[in-house]
Amino acid sequence: MSTAVQRSEPATTVPPHADIVVIGAGFGGIYAHHRFRKLGMSVFGFEQGTDVGGTWYWNRYPGARCDVESVDYCYSFSDDLLDEWQWSERFSTQPEILEYATYVADKFDLRRDIKFETKVVSCRYDEAANLWTVTTDKGDSITCHYLVTTVGCLSVPKDPEFEGLENFKGQWVQTGAWPKEGVDWAGKNVLVIGTGSSAIQTIPEVAKTAGHLTVFQRTANYSVPAYNGPLPEHRREEVFADYPAYLDMLKHTRGGQTFELGTDLRAADFSPEEQRDRLEKAWRYGRWNLQSCFRDITINEDTNQMVREFFAEKLRGIVKDPATAEKLNPKGYPFGTKRLCLDSDYFETFNRPNVDLVDINEEPIVRITESGLQTSEKEYPADLIIFAIGFDAMTGPLVNLGIEGRGGASLTEAWQDGPECYLGIAAPGFPNLFMVNGPSSVSVLSNMILTLEHHVDWVADCIEYMRGNGFDRLEARKDATHEWAAHTEMVANRTLFPKANSWYMGANVEGKPRMFLAYIGGFDNYVARFNEVAAKGFEGFDLNRSKVEQTA
Ligand code: NAP
Repeated sequence: MSTAVQRSEPATTVPPHADIVVIGAGFGGIYAHHRFRKLGMSVFGFEQGTDVGGTWYWNRYPGARCDVESVDYCYSFSDDLLDEWQWSERFSTQPEILEYATYVADKFDLRRDIKFETKVVSCRYDEAANLWTVTTDKGDSITCHYLVTTVGCLSVPKDPEFEGLENFKGQWVQTGAWPKEGVDWAGKNVLVIGTGSSAIQTIPEVAKTAGHLTVFQRTANYSVPAYNGPLPEHRREEVFADYPAYLDMLKHTRGGQTFELGTDLRAADFSPEEQRDRLEKAWRYGRWNLQSCFRDITINEDTNQMVREFFAEKLRGIVKDPATAEKLNPKGYPFGTKRLCLDSDYFETFNRPNVDLVDINEEPIVRITESGLQTSEKEYPADLIIFAIGFDAMTGPLVNLGIEGRGGASLTEAWQDGPECYLGIAAPGFPNLFMVNGPSSVSVLSNMILTLEHHVDWVADCIEYMRGNGFDRLEARKDATHEWAAHTEMVANRTLFPKANSWYMGANVEGKPRMFLAYIGGFDNYVARFNEVAAKGFEGFDLNRSKVEQTA
């Protein structure tokens, strides 16, 4: 989908020092290399995978595709790149997005400072030297002045801790770590555990050729049709005719994207006929229109209930068996407070004769056996089990890095009772560490690529400011960090989101403190806050001249 470029070869050796070390080579990581090089500083990075791509490298499961439109889910930093790359579909597939990441890495020669297949095992800050030392599972060690993590928000898949799994004689896989060599399910007995976004994309694809597919559902999910198809020419035109203006408009939205029915009006501002008309249109337009057609859907219980009833009506119209439709109808949490899924024929798949649904609340899973899965009622034979059980979101990827800040304080321990992360990017006690799209960032509630670019640009500006003003150490202040944590909590508590047991709340991982893990105040407000902080000389951070202090 692009012009040919020469391959960028990866680093084979690790230098003893770099000005900046970047952990991760997903979309945030590769852009960070590109942007930081422009500061005239040395940059080096590590990545666990064999190549770039992050989320889109690991999540190769069938049907994987982005739920943000392709024209929005792409880099904005290079006019050449925008001209050269043509997306083929409205919602890009995982292979096309991975191809794009590869193309970007080649075009800007971004692999040359990245060591792949290498896991960072510790990052220790030395206060006297004002340096971080990063070590890896391959025995590498590198010091750096600034440490930047771009490790993703949903990159640590939950382990399938099911009794007896070790005895299973068939194959089992995880959607979040799908084998690169592919998986063959044609004609086989397949079990899928989980019904989140990943499962909802996997299930219709697997069902097409599986001998039999049984889906094990713990919590039914809201899902709406994506209405994918070729990217319409008019949409391309709308975006690229005046891209700077379009981009500026996106940056003033709450989620880094727009919806046909997005509105600032509440449901009560419309008559019952108008409400119904908007709901019907929202269903026809697909995407997150059903969550955006009234401003107060995730704030007001009555509006939410109206949307839930409308959804149930649509569901009953699709799923032929009333008992199955009832099982698939979400209960116990408000609409939109778990991430709304976008699907291609998910509910329709349950009309197929080779697909069954098991509600594990009625029929709990007892164990995995040698030949399948045993519930309280019966054994389900399986050749292949697909675990689509989610991720240790937001904090998981960071607490796995062995980060130790001032005085050897561990990030894992500092966040034991829940993360406090100033602006979702920095934590007190961890100088010169920038966590791109960290906990309490807008990230997962917005268009990830736009938010990644924003964070990386802001970090680059911050480093430039420090250098220009003779500062070499920056640390988030405790009071500012508490204030941000209180603000993010207050904003979340104004919504219905805390009512759901979602990964946004850390509720999907046993023992994880329950708190809202992202900033729900909108990308527009988030960017405004960052601009304000920068304009006030990086308010909320302590900036020091460590070298001057040491020699004074
Ligand atoms: P998820 O939304 O956390 O869903 C995990 C599913 O597994 C849930 O149905 C969960 O049930 C179930 N589950 C977890 N542990 C279980 C257990 N021990 N036994 C039985 N069921 C269990 O994870 P995901 O589907 O991977 O999606 C995570 C996020 O990734 C999404 O919300 C989205 O932000 C992103 N994503 C995006 C796309 C896209 O762009 N299209 C695609 C995939 C993922 P409970 O609900 O009861 O916990």
